Amino acid sequence: MAMLEIRGVHKSFHTYAKPGVHPGIFGRAPKPTSSLDVLRGVDLTVEKGDVVAILGPSGSGKTTLLRCLNFLETADAGKLTFDGETFDLAHADRASIAQLRRKTAFVFQNYNLFRNKTALQNVTEGLIVARKMPKAEADAVGMKMLEKVGLADRADYYPRQLSGGQQQRVAIARALASGPEIIYFDEPTSALDPELTGEVLAVMRQLAQEGMTMLVVTHEMGFARNVSSKTVFMENGVVVEQAPSREFFADPKEERTRAYDAMLRARDNIFRMLRPGAIFEDLYFAAMKEYEEAGFGSILPGRCGHGMGLSTHEFPSVTKGNKAPLAPGMILTVEPGLMSAELGAVRNSDTVLITEDGFEFLTNSPRDKIIIKKG
Ligand code: ADP
Ligand code: MG
Repeated sequence: MAMLEIRGVHKSFHTYAKPGVHPGIFGRAPKPTSSLDVLRGVDLTVEKGDVVAILGPSGSGKTTLLRCLNFLETADAGKLTFDGETFDLAHADRASIAQLRRKTAFVFQNYNLFRNKTALQNVTEGLIVARKMPKAEADAVGMKMLEKVGLADRADYYPRQLSGGQQQRVAIARALASGPEIIYFDEPTSALDPELTGEVLAVMRQLAQEGMTMLVVTHEMGFARNVSSKTVFMENGVVVEQAPSREFFADPKEERTRAYDAMLRARDNIFRMLRPGAIFEDLYFAAMKEYEEAGFGSILPGRCGHGMGLSTHEFPSVTKGNKAPLAPGMILTVEPGLMSAELGAVRNSDTVLITEDGFEFLTNSPRDKIIIKKG
């Protein structure tokens, strides 16, 4: 029997004409002015010891799915069976939510640490408050977990005194401290500077080797390819492809999965080069190289097809021969997208501001905290 069976998860978000008006306030539910079907029937099976990588473009519903599985969000429909026990994701009482959460843990994109507590206190808080563990015992567990993530010597540091990578490792130690049977990770490295992702991925790889069951939303293709046992590709609220990772990457059945992979690498290449003085044409070539190597031919800026749109107010699009340099204050939209009829639309657009020493994301991007520094 599978450890975790997820069946028929549906979730819509509604928006209302008047801000702050939600169903129930006036006794009768007002009609939403628009609805967004974010999850449209997701099924997933996870075996004990599986490391499942969930890939997919921004907005495809990955975060919403993880949140629904842990009751951080209430689904409209769906069932979850964990160790043979079935939970209704749309209607669960407090007792069953608490019962499920005793077996699960969540690692967030932005760590979600208490700012006013030390690393150790962040790890032990849940044990002392929710589990009523005596402090001395909780401290011993906490130290053991900090050791496991390589941070025993940082136990008394506050989050502001730790790097992003260290903060995320504290968050992983906190997740481990509760002794979960499965850990959900929502893009655990995407808020980190590129040079700090490795230390977090190394901890996750170690957990995987020790047999921890994990469900990991990620844009790290290397992790999906080399560490995960199974890869799932989501788009528009449904799973479009899933397979053992070895097969998935050896022969992605869906061309769009391969194209998405190429798109992310193209985007990363552009981000690596974004800083004042970078030349548009160089960005164009950096992006094009990835597409060509992936077998998608040359990119056609501003057209349909496999496209890499990179535009600014000053220079409407990036094309070969555009030798203009980037300058501080310039706002760019980076929009690698796949827009052909056969592949459907896969788009990930980011708006960035060029700063004195790099760039900052202005949009809610999956990598909204990356700031690449000069040199
Ligand atoms: P992903 O994690 O794959 O990027 P999300 O699950 O965060 O996708 O979001 C899926 C879609 O649902 C997006 O279009 C997003 O704007 C929308 N969405 C997410 N949370 C909410 C919310 N609380 N209210 C309204 N819309 C939301
Ligand atoms: Mg997300």
